[in-house]
Amino acid sequence: MPQSPAECVFCKIYAGEIPGEFLYRDDRCFVIRDINPVAPVHLLVIPVEHYVHSVDASPEHEAMLGHLMLVAQTVAKQEGVYETGYRMAVNQGPNAGQTVDHLHLHVIGGRRLEHEG
Ligand code: 5GP
Ligand code: ZN
Repeated sequence: MPQSPAECVFCKIYAGEIPGEFLYRDDRCFVIRDINPVAPVHLLVIPVEHYVHSVDASPEHEAMLGHLMLVAQTVAKQEGVYETGYRMAVNQGPNAGQTVDHLHLHVIGGRRLEHEG
């Protein structure tokens, strides 16, 4: 069963119930460091609104989805990986290994990444 907003770790971080360092925030999204980084830079761009999967977003959310990618670019620059390159990834559902049921965009960089998929 997907986590409800009340038990969602990202909603709790946004609400200040769990500590989290905000690298960026605006009215639509916020950015934190992944607690278990797979590379020197591993950020999560998270919409304020609790969407379980990206497929739950409908056409009205198109601008929000695009906003997440632009914010990823902003924080990649802040973290110094914009020039060297970085990966943006969304894990969607069980086969992709999604563990937190609140849409989020991974921004991963700071080392050479292997290709997969
Ligand atoms: P997923 O596997 O769903 O795509 O990614 C969830 C990510 O959230 C994982 O990479 C995991 O390390 C990260 N994560 C889980 N719990 C916390 C937490 O409490 N704080 C932070 N900063 N990241 C978390
Ligand atoms: Zn949530």
